[in-house]
Amino acid sequence: MTEPAPVGGPGGPVRTCVGCRRRDAQDRLLRVVAEGTGVRVDPRRRAPGRGAYVHPDPACVALAVRKRAFGRTLRAPVDAAGAGESLLAHLGTNPSGTALGPGAGSG
Ligand SMILES: [Zn+2]
Repeated sequence: MTEPAPVGGPGGPVRTCVGCRRRDAQDRLLRVVAEGTGVRVDPRRRAPGRGAYVHPDPACVALAVRKRAFGRTLRAPVDAAGAGESLLAHLGTNPSGTALGPGAGSG
C-alpha cells in the first residue's frame, strides 16, 4: 500500500493531535494520560493506559478542551476545563528549553 508521507520524517510513529486532528510525528506531540478527573503530561510516554496526543500549543489544547477530546480519547471522566488549565500551565512553565525556537518555519 502507499500512503502520503507524514509531516516530519519516515521511521517514526505518527499520532493524531486531539486538538487540531492533524497527524504528526509522535515526538512532536505531547502525551497526556488521565489521572482522576484531570490529566497529567507524560513526557516519557511510558505511563500505562490510554494516552492522548496533543501539540504543545495552547491553540491545540484549547481546541481539545472545547471538544472535550481528552475525556473521549482517554475514556475517563476528565474535567475538560481542569485538564486544559493543567496543560496550559505545563506549556507556560517549560522546565527545560526545547529545540523549538521563534521563526521555525512558516506555513
Ligand atoms: Zn494540534
